[in-house]
Amino acid sequence: MPDAKPGTVYLKDYRPPAYLINRTELHFELYEDCAIVSSRLHLLRDGSVAQNASLQLHGQELELLSVAVDDCELSAAEYAISADSLLIYAVPEQCVVACRTRIRPQANTSLSGLYKSRSLFCTQCEAEGFRKITYYLDRPDVMSVFTVTVEAQREHYPVLLSNGNLSEVRELAAGRHRAVWHDPFPKPAYLFALVAGDLSHTQDSFTTASGRQVTLRIYVEERDLDKCQHAMRSLQQAMRWDEQVYGREYDLDIFNIVAVDDFNMGAMENKSLNIFNTSCVLCSPEITTDSGYQRVQAIVAHEYFHNWSGNRVTCRDWFQLSLKEGFTVFRDAQFSAAMGSPTVKRVEDATLLRTAQFAEDAGPLAHSVRPESFMEINNFYTLTVYEKGAEVVRMMHTLLGAEQFRRGSDLYFERHDGQAVTCEDFVRAMEDASGVDLHPFRNWYAQAGTPHLTVRDEYDAVRQCYTLHVQQSCPATPGQLEKLPFVIPLAMGLLGAAGNLPLRQTGTAGDVETSDNTHTVLIIDQPGQTFVFEGVTERPVPSLLRGFSAPVRLHYDYSKSDLCALMRRDADGFVRWDSAQVLAIRVIEEVERQLFTGAVPLVDPLFIAACDDLLRNESLDPAMVAEMLRLPSEEYLAELASQASGANVDTIHKARNIVRTALGSALVESLLARYHSLDSVLAYAPDAEQIARRSLRNTCLSYLVSAGPHNLELASRQYELAGNMTDRLAALKEIAFYGAGGLRDSTLNSFYQDWRHEALVVNQWFQVQAEIPDSQGLSRVQALLAHADFELRNPNKVRALVGGFTNQNPVNFHRVDGTGYRFLGDIVVALNGLNPQIASRLLTPLTKWRNYTGRAELMRAELERLATEPALSPDVFEVVTKSLQ
Ligand SMILES: [Zn+2]
Repeated sequence: MPDAKPGTVYLKDYRPPAYLINRTELHFELYEDCAIVSSRLHLLRDGSVAQNASLQLHGQELELLSVAVDDCELSAAEYAISADSLLIYAVPEQCVVACRTRIRPQANTSLSGLYKSRSLFCTQCEAEGFRKITYYLDRPDVMSVFTVTVEAQREHYPVLLSNGNLSEVRELAAGRHRAVWHDPFPKPAYLFALVAGDLSHTQDSFTTASGRQVTLRIYVEERDLDKCQHAMRSLQQAMRWDEQVYGREYDLDIFNIVAVDDFNMGAMENKSLNIFNTSCVLCSPEITTDSGYQRVQAIVAHEYFHNWSGNRVTCRDWFQLSLKEGFTVFRDAQFSAAMGSPTVKRVEDATLLRTAQFAEDAGPLAHSVRPESFMEINNFYTLTVYEKGAEVVRMMHTLLGAEQFRRGSDLYFERHDGQAVTCEDFVRAMEDASGVDLHPFRNWYAQAGTPHLTVRDEYDAVRQCYTLHVQQSCPATPGQLEKLPFVIPLAMGLLGAAGNLPLRQTGTAGDVETSDNTHTVLIIDQPGQTFVFEGVTERPVPSLLRGFSAPVRLHYDYSKSDLCALMRRDADGFVRWDSAQVLAIRVIEEVERQLFTGAVPLVDPLFIAACDDLLRNESLDPAMVAEMLRLPSEEYLAELASQASGANVDTIHKARNIVRTALGSALVESLLARYHSLDSVLAYAPDAEQIARRSLRNTCLSYLVSAGPHNLELASRQYELAGNMTDRLAALKEIAFYGAGGLRDSTLNSFYQDWRHEALVVNQWFQVQAEIPDSQGLSRVQALLAHADFELRNPNKVRALVGGFTNQNPVNFHRVDGTGYRFLGDIVVALNGLNPQIASRLLTPLTKWRNYTGRAELMRAELERLATEPALSPDVFEVVTKSLQ
């Protein structure tokens, strides 16, 4: 246990800052062993808040060289320093506080604050990294205009960047130089950024709707200059889209992106100086898969969109994190849908939510979209805050309609420009602009847990009347035993023999009107409700939760033939896909039961026939066919099982493989025909049509390989001939998973030899091996920890090798001897001191210990061992202790 248990911070304790910082002047002198930071903070006391004349500034791991108030240096008696603050006993109402501190970026392995990534100085300040740079009011509701001077040796650091516009460059003595940056927009410290290094850049431009010329630059190492084109194009697309869809223009003359190797997150939206993980910028057909291309496009857009939803209007406190993240994830999802296939994007988002966010909501770390308390804010960059937060915004979009939603967002930006505000302010703007009462809807922000919707129906053939009974409930979560009803938009239709039926609902007041009379949105806002449809000429199959209209668990007792009908004929792409998923789950669960009772496993021929239909139907979007044929992941199956009696990872793995093999064997002919017909001689392009074809073709390959080792030849041929990383990696994965030892080793080895000079590809190579489900899984990963290209200090490598193993290789992670858990525990201990954020994040799979039949005690024991480790970081301490409660 740590000596002092980290304190808990509560939303209810929020107080406005007693001092504001109108202007911030920073001066950085960068050296090879340290950096000297001089600050001048122009402070003003908020007379309405406090009469206390003392000033407490945040600061961590800083060496204070001097402190002055209004240019009078303070004596040691006039201030006090603690591990996380500087307290000045008396300051006037208005003054300039100047500090000089020494920091050591070279020794900063936490990648928070100012640190060195290889030869580059860079920063990451969200959430509370700025306090590791200088003493400051490091809270988002203190917004200040920054002027930043950066000085360094010209030879090694020719590029010196910070936020805003460049206002001065100057050569200095002894080979040093200086750049001065001024950002006219007030911002909180978490949006501060600095970069110094030997970087090259690509440049392009963008003309905003009102005619402003913006210079766009992407800074990378010289060898990566040819890999920036896609990110640049994505940035331009995002800038145009935000003008068209949200009426938001860019507001400075320059926008910079810098790619950094060592980075805890994907990217960071610092004002006009976005810092990106290299994995979220660099793209080329040779090194990047299709999903990598899509990820770059989405993340570039996400960070750009923050310029308004996050930077111009920011969060009052960190409990409001979803204010900027939920809204911006929703915006980037809309953007990705517009750039590619909206249904496939929705399927991907729903899959992530149901697999991982629902698990978070059902686990010991469940928290609401706007949490009430935390020990370490870095632990709250969660799927709940981001993805569920985006679903909450999406539901408001559904309830208000696109036009009213846009009026709401216009009002929000207009009303709060330059302010630090709350989720409540966002909802109120939506309400005020639309006139829609969202009062009960606010429960989505305050209550944790995933609501369940249980639906029953009746059909009266004589009266041609169809009735839906909908009940909602929500399980208890830590600290919240009773829940109020949620407002749940339930998009639906009714499917008849020849297609969707027209809907005539009695008493429709309050429901969202839709233009198509075969589709409606029911508003569920009571524990139980009944909806009656008239003039229904046949018993329909209900098509429910269309487009995944709410983040809920839906229960309706579909028969297999209902599911097949929805799969084939429903108008809603999401419901078609979801029906295929539910059918696959049903079939896999049947096999699990057969395995349990010792019966000979039998895969329902109905399911195989439905898959064959999909494969043969060339009128469907191949991307959707691929999604519909993809079996639910073992992780999702385990999540579902944990809702019932508990997950048995071995049985799930075995049953899923039996179903895969049965499908592959039964459909060899259709699979081969489709595999060959999707072959393409076109030059690689990451466009929706090509991505769809590759996706289905590689799905076919995977099933063919599962049908028998003779089909590995196909994989080998594809591997040899592949002209892009998507096809090469797909083939490599099949060979690595199912090839005999010799073939596997030689292919993995040749892949490494071909790509060892590309760190991002080597990460993919680590990840493929981490996921191999054979009995050597753990020892293979342990051996790779010692590989010359593996570094524990680099988060991308840790995520690829360790995260790949713990998240994507369940049979090996959950080894019955507990060695998989011990492996993870040891890594967490090693990382705890180096990089607490990454250490804490890696722990997620262990926090689900209650879900696993026959493993819970072992998993718990590993958490208990971690709890006894000395000097646990607050990050790890919080996750471990809350998981054990
Ligand atoms: Zn974000």
